[in-house]
Amino acid sequence: MPSADNVMDKLVSLAKRRGFVFQSSEIYGGLGSVWDYGPLGVELKKNVKERWWRSMVHERDDIEGLDAAILMHPKVWEASGHIAGFTDPLVDCKQCKNRFRADDPRIKGTPGQPDAQCPVCGMKGTLTAPRLFNLMFKTFMGPVEEDAAVIYLRPETAQGIYINYLNVLQSSRQKIPFGIAQIGKAFRNEITPGNFTFRTREFEQMEMQFFVKPAADQEWFEFWKAQRMEWVQGLGLHVEKLRFHQHAKDELAHYAKDAYDIQYEFPFGWQEFEGIHNRTDFDLSRHQQHSGKKLEYVDTATNERFVPYIIETSAGADRTTLVVMVDAYHEEEVAGEKRVVMRFHPALAPIKAAVFPLVNKDGMPELARRIYDDLRRHLNAFYDDGGSIGRRYRRQDEAGTPFGITIDGQSTQDQTVTVRDRDTLLQDRVAADRLVAHLTEKLKG
Ligand SMILES: [Zn+2]
Repeated sequence: MPSADNVMDKLVSLAKRRGFVFQSSEIYGGLGSVWDYGPLGVELKKNVKERWWRSMVHERDDIEGLDAAILMHPKVWEASGHIAGFTDPLVDCKQCKNRFRADDPRIKGTPGQPDAQCPVCGMKGTLTAPRLFNLMFKTFMGPVEEDAAVIYLRPETAQGIYINYLNVLQSSRQKIPFGIAQIGKAFRNEITPGNFTFRTREFEQMEMQFFVKPAADQEWFEFWKAQRMEWVQGLGLHVEKLRFHQHAKDELAHYAKDAYDIQYEFPFGWQEFEGIHNRTDFDLSRHQQHSGKKLEYVDTATNERFVPYIIETSAGADRTTLVVMVDAYHEEEVAGEKRVVMRFHPALAPIKAAVFPLVNKDGMPELARRIYDDLRRHLNAFYDDGGSIGRRYRRQDEAGTPFGITIDGQSTQDQTVTVRDRDTLLQDRVAADRLVAHLTEKLKG
């Protein structure tokens, strides 16, 4: 069994080599826990997001989409509790200047006391007493940098949905129960980020807030819990690596009545990548209080008035993409040679088909180009005529491309091509004019 670091190291290295993920600002030495998606990574993540959007918005009559701005009125964060409560107790080492969470298990003794020992430089008595540190990124709006101009980069997308609840309700003519879905960036000044793109300071969320009658909360909570697990399983992941984790009383956020994480068994352990939360009427009540605007819902059939309860499904787009990459990573031996292959669900694969002329002569490149030009109008295809056919297959295996199309000597005679399956390595011979239909059928789902 390879060690956890080993597997993650190999994935990080492949991600860079093939162009999935790069460290941000690498030529300047890198920026801590911020990552950039390369040519293959941007396609993979986009496929994850589009699949989510299709299932949450397009395939449902009761959910509307939204794209709220990152910058919001500072009062939003007072109402949400983020200014008062979104803090971590931290300690600093006066000797080596490192900063730690107060509950860092590596710290021996009580920070602030002479017996406390710094886990990095090993000095005793150099750790400060814990101080609260807000995780929101602060910036200034307008021409002057003063307290009155302070605004924040949003630490979650959810608040953009709550403050637009009335706008969406009225403009879409939805009735409760209904939901609002959003994909967007959020920012948290995490103190202990890490594990590649698992915990980052800039990240993208895929969130849906479902507004229900207070008495119907349990029913909808169960519904969304089941729906989200089904969607996650539909990504083609190993089901034995997926599980629910219910938050115990002491894990629950202050606003939550019940919460389940969907966890994946990463090489570094079971970790959350999506949560389903019953947020009760906390959010809308707080915004009602702080804005002075009525956010009650009036049921026209019964004349009931109430502040809706909210069932939230909150997934990390980066984390889900990381789960997909970790789960797809395979090493195997084929005919005595090591092969690394990313076994992506075909619907998520960044490139669907790669086209290879067997050799660069005898009419093969011309035919291969024609086939490629036809194919790319239907799906994301890639043309490669560099190096031996074996090397070209290996590169596409690492990119996770499900199908390799080879144009050989026979192709120029009878207009057929070979289609190599990434996983089984079996090759079918298919008529060139049937190729699009053949691949489209296989890519379904
Ligand atoms: Zn130190």
